[in-house]
Amino acid sequence: MSQTNYQSELVGVFGDPIAENPTIVMLEAAFKHLKLNWRYLNIQVHASDLANAITGLRAFNMQGINLTIPHKVAVLEFLDEVAPDAALIGAVNTVRREGSKLIGENTDGKGFMRALSEAGVDAAGQRVVVLGAGGAARAITVELALAGAAHIDVVNRSQARGETLVALLNDRTPVRSAYVPWTPKYRIPGGSTLIINATSIGLYPNVTEQPDIDFSSLSSDMLVCDVIPNPADTLFLKSARQQGARTLDGLGMLVYQGAIAFKLWTGHDAPVAVMHAALKDALRVA
Ligand code: NDP
Repeated sequence: MSQTNYQSELVGVFGDPIAENPTIVMLEAAFKHLKLNWRYLNIQVHASDLANAITGLRAFNMQGINLTIPHKVAVLEFLDEVAPDAALIGAVNTVRREGSKLIGENTDGKGFMRALSEAGVDAAGQRVVVLGAGGAARAITVELALAGAAHIDVVNRSQARGETLVALLNDRTPVRSAYVPWTPKYRIPGGSTLIINATSIGLYPNVTEQPDIDFSSLSSDMLVCDVIPNPADTLFLKSARQQGARTLDGLGMLVYQGAIAFKLWTGHDAPVAVMHAALKDALRVA
């Protein structure tokens, strides 16, 4: 008879609000599939309680934690080390333990890169147009830049935020980047190869909204991506396909950011198909 072990390993996510964060569904499905005695908890932590929450994480010997709004930047000061790409991005969405050390990682941009490579697309040499300059845009563009993208146009409503991202990319990565003000019916420059909506436009329940671009400027040699996971097939992607463009949805990015965190924590390769199915079921996407 094998010896009983009732002790679970704990991971989870700190955020506020936290009730609708769906990563738990994927991670719990993955633990079950691999018969790992691990638990993922959605834990509400107010902004002013983050320091105490990290102390609690250490006291409970938790194996790691995801961070979401409002903690992705604030957590940096409580960590022992930060991975180089997460330091460039300036935000951490995953913390892992190495002995008593807490190490910050950012798996959002890496999740996008994994989805891109699954689609058979190499980041090297891409001429990128990213719509948005927030957290998702920062994570994605830093990873694309480090992977050898040739050029990145950052199209953003707020000039200050757009220029901050462009300065980061030009000063700290090998890519050439330019800020482009977001004018109505923005025309995607000819020769662009990778177009990414990294804004929240089109996110449920605003499913009839899409970024304001001139869709006739899209063409069949462009890959058009959306970071929005719900709905997976956004109006933006549908409109892009009508112009003959290939598309890539945000569900893959979401699954892979969780799969990368799973591997960092458990050391096991994530059962990606199981996680994808669980997430689709939870988000009720077609
Ligand atoms: P942020 O708040 O950091 O950034 C939002 C960005 O969207 C800003 O650039 C903002 O522009 C722009 N934006 C929002 N509304 C409008 C509008 N009406 N017109 C023009 N621009 C607009 O959010 P995040 O970057 O963290 O998240 C963005 C999206 O990415 C969310 O929908 C989130 O669900 C998704 N996401 C998906 C992930 C995945 O794994 N699939 C992972 C992380 C995020 P401005 O600077 O002018 O305000």
